[in-house]
Amino acid sequence: MAEPVIELTEVCREFPAQPPVRALDRVTLRVGRGDYLAITGPSGSGKSTLLNVLGLLDRPSTGSYRLDGVETTTLRDGARTRLRADRIGFVFQAFHLLSHRSVVENVMLAEVYRRRPGTIRQRRARAMAALERVGVAHRADFAPGLLSGGERQRAAIARALMGEPSLLLCDEPTGNLDSRNTEAVLGLFDELRGQGLTIVVITHEQEVGARAGRRVRITDGVPAEEA
Ligand code: ADP
Ligand code: MG
Repeated sequence: MAEPVIELTEVCREFPAQPPVRALDRVTLRVGRGDYLAITGPSGSGKSTLLNVLGLLDRPSTGSYRLDGVETTTLRDGARTRLRADRIGFVFQAFHLLSHRSVVENVMLAEVYRRRPGTIRQRRARAMAALERVGVAHRADFAPGLLSGGERQRAAIARALMGEPSLLLCDEPTGNLDSRNTEAVLGLFDELRGQGLTIVVITHEQEVGARAGRRVRITDGVPAEEA
């Protein structure tokens, strides 16, 4: 396999309850650079818990998580936050675009949290390049509300790409889209994968899973590779 981006080793996540809930049960998972992985599973199986761990939003109770070779479980909060900002682009079901800002301004805002140096003009140029990459540069000056769902999600993906992440982590990215817009977003994932990006998609949808290069189904906190 290619150089690993994600290496989970024997990761458990237990929530305190009577009895405790083991949402992730000794999960060992490797994702190589350039992989396109879909994670599926029934409600309550541990998908959100896994996404939160992979996205450095939550910590495993036990086990190891290396992201780009960095052991994350022992990092302090500040270092974890920086690693997250540098290495991970998030895409959610709800696009989370600010309605009173233009599309390009929304994409530029990604860098406010990243403390990347440069003038507004340079930031705008980077945002335009990201919009170009996802095929919605012609909508740059529109309000997000004037875009189709698929265009909005592509703009949200442009925002996620601004930090040149190692990993694009997507939570039900087509959950709000009709079939035509779903196809547009899946086509974009195919393209990005072709450019070498590593993509992990959590999804309920059969057709989304079918497009990924690799599928893992999680049941009761235990993932299993699917053919
Ligand atoms: P999914 O996203 O696949 O529906 P989750 O990861 O949300 O599943 O949940 C996995 C299991 O962990 C479920 O049994 C859920 O009830 C439990 N769980 C999730 N979060 C918490 C929490 N904060 N406290 C207690 N139990 C939780
Ligand atoms: Mg969930």
